[in-house]
Amino acid sequence: MELEWEGELMMDSQSVQEIVNRQKQMVQSGATKSVAFRLKQLETLKSAIKEREKLVMEALFADLGKSEFEAYATEIGTVYDSISHAMKNLKKWAKPQRVRTPIVHFGSTSYIYSEPYGSTLIIGPFNYPFMLVMDPLIGAISAGNCAVVKPSEYTPHVSAIIAEILADCFDETYIITLEGGKEITSILIHTPFDLIFFTGSIGVGKIVMEAAAGNLVPVILELGGKSPCIVDRETNLDLAAGRIVWGKFLNTGQTCVAPDYVLAHRDIKEALIVKMKEQITAFYGADPKDSPDYGKIVNTRQWDRLNGLLYHTKVVAGGNGDREDLYFAPTIMNGVEWNDKVMEEEIFGPIMPVLEYDDLSLVIDKVNARPKPLALYLFTENKSVENRVLESVSFGGGCVNDTVLHLVSPYLPFGGVGSSGMGSYHGKHSFDSFSHRKSVLKKSTRINLDLIFPPYNERKLKWIKKFMK
Ligand code: NAD
Repeated sequence: MELEWEGELMMDSQSVQEIVNRQKQMVQSGATKSVAFRLKQLETLKSAIKEREKLVMEALFADLGKSEFEAYATEIGTVYDSISHAMKNLKKWAKPQRVRTPIVHFGSTSYIYSEPYGSTLIIGPFNYPFMLVMDPLIGAISAGNCAVVKPSEYTPHVSAIIAEILADCFDETYIITLEGGKEITSILIHTPFDLIFFTGSIGVGKIVMEAAAGNLVPVILELGGKSPCIVDRETNLDLAAGRIVWGKFLNTGQTCVAPDYVLAHRDIKEALIVKMKEQITAFYGADPKDSPDYGKIVNTRQWDRLNGLLYHTKVVAGGNGDREDLYFAPTIMNGVEWNDKVMEEEIFGPIMPVLEYDDLSLVIDKVNARPKPLALYLFTENKSVENRVLESVSFGGGCVNDTVLHLVSPYLPFGGVGSSGMGSYHGKHSFDSFSHRKSVLKKSTRINLDLIFPPYNERKLKWIKKFMK
């Protein structure tokens, strides 16, 4: 049976199962395993994106109002970089890695073989709809897997161009895009893939993990949460204001690692707010609605949700918008308390609540009492403050004296901890996440230590105690 989804044919579970079976067979046949094959696919993907770069930009503008600069810097260029990095390093990554062997295995050598899982499922969110399916896909290809890609239904233009690019590059058995909403995703997550890579909200992450558990499918969950931004009194406030405003209002606040709220030391809070307001104007002009560099909210459902978080007496910048055009002004709220509505859930939009503190210990306690955040940012010139925060708070990743940019390094594993996610990727970490690391002990046949064979006696026990202590 096939169901309709906005004109597209949506598959039923049997069809999905057949795709997965074919993908598993393809990987088992060895067709995807040679490094030469993987490099070729990465190269093909890069060329196909280059050919349609303009169309991708247009799709990102249509769905999210992204400026060309943002579209290139945070989506397309990032994907090129990831492909180039993978192509440069793949040969090295794919080699069996020789590791040390304990003395107890005298006469042996030890290796870790990275092998593809097989058929992998990649589910993407709406906020960076191109990059957040392409980046994991680069990991999947590099590691020698097949993939089913399910982009977000909330960004239909981007979803369509992804489908076009992948259909142009790859045989359907190898990599296929399945477009659609909850119905198709629900079928997909109940299918026995070999790995599911999910990026999205905590709530849907739980649904995905529960469904995957039914088939014991491993999951990588890239989720969200409320990422704090602590601003100490010993800080270069001009720099802090610029970097916070950039990280918050990038992609209209719809960034998983955006600073969700600011915790500002009482001595500098008012000055910081003044400077953040100045930065908003410097970046987006007197009326950000007219700025070509300021995007829009993805849909009215999200717009309404954000509007419901505003507490107008606390708004000190922005607070206005245009529902029809999905415009939501860059907004700052002052005097926010921990139990305000805006502090309950991830904001995921252009509202910046500012809370005041004067005792860092209380800030650390408050943050630690909440779910572990995906990111944490700290602005300080004081080393002991830096060490205290880094040593006492658990978070996915973050920056000292900047926001968001830890995400843009292939050398740093990107991912959450606790409810902000599990597993990580980027660069070699993507390759590792999409590979099963198979341990192999190779034993010499020239020597034979019969120490571990029965019958046991005092002499053997003595020996084993010497080796294992
Ligand atoms: P979402 O969870 O609503 O949707 C993500 C995907 O899940 C979509 O493809 C959607 O079709 C599918 N989905 C939705 N409901 C489903 C259901 N009931 N069953 C099965 N599948 C379902 O997330 P979103 O709104 O697109 O993205 C925003 C969230 O994603 C935020 O919480 C953000 O922090 C998080 N995010 C995390 C990262 C990261 O790298 N950690 C990156 C971007 C976004």
